Amino acid sequence: MGRFDGRVAVVTGAARGIGFGTATRFAEEGASVAIIDLDESAAADAAGRLPVVDGAKAVGIGADVSNAESVDAAVERVVSELGGIHVLVNNAGITRDNLLFKMTEQDWDLVMGVHLKGAFLMTKAAQKHFVEQKYGKIVNLSSVSALGNRGQANYSAAKMGVQGFTRTLGIELGPFGINANAVAPGFIATEMTDATAARLKMDVEEFRKLNAEANPVRRVGFPEDIAAAVAFLASDEASYITGQTLYVDGGAKLG
Ligand code: NAP
Repeated sequence: MGRFDGRVAVVTGAARGIGFGTATRFAEEGASVAIIDLDESAAADAAGRLPVVDGAKAVGIGADVSNAESVDAAVERVVSELGGIHVLVNNAGITRDNLLFKMTEQDWDLVMGVHLKGAFLMTKAAQKHFVEQKYGKIVNLSSVSALGNRGQANYSAAKMGVQGFTRTLGIELGPFGINANAVAPGFIATEMTDATAARLKMDVEEFRKLNAEANPVRRVGFPEDIAAAVAFLASDEASYITGQTLYVDGGAKLG
């Protein structure tokens, strides 16, 4: 028996990185999984690599989470192809880092559009089904950068915004059997942090090593670390937890 037998989980931005790690975990634990990502072929390819159990399915859907029409069509496809929707993980993300004085309005809007508007649109489309069936689990991806990070005024504001959004979802949707929580990762080894290394003109391995040495648990995080926390918050074991943000960062922001 898996914790997600008979459930349908949707993970956005899941063609790679933390999203793919999370989709993998849901599949391993019995869920049918929809991978939503910008590029339909990358999403389908990732869905084909999920370890789905007998009787469960996986589908890859191309959609832009910052576009309302695209989101509505994607959620309707999930429901018709997988037979419902029970778990939503708002994971899709981008960075457009720069110091404030160099940050463009476009870089601000793009980051807000994917992280904040994307989570809003996906949640709005999913909650119709959640409310109707009096059951739903929402997990949003925040970040330790929500607490402030040089060069990330846009990203940091969006990720703290995600925490406020999550608290409000907890209040509004709790009466309908819906839990909403957030996970705030620290440094996770993915293409996103590899791109940061490139921007800083550093070797990827050297960048990971420096981050590991600066972390209380002396390692970087991996998508599996985040997947474990997301799966717990999306499970029925966490049904008395809502509106919370769980930092999964090896203690990075403690000192
Ligand atoms: P990643 O490797 O860059 O993957 C992000 C995925 O999201 C990509 O497949 C990307 O597609 C997709 N995406 C981007 N814009 C989208 C849109 N508008 N609609 C649908 N999909 C879209 O990132 P990650 O490191 O796994 O991060 C996942 C989440 O965790 C993000 O929300 C990120 O902010 C958060 N996070 C990451 C870290 C970390 O250290 N890695 C730390 C804290 C929080 P394309 O490839 O086509 O762009």
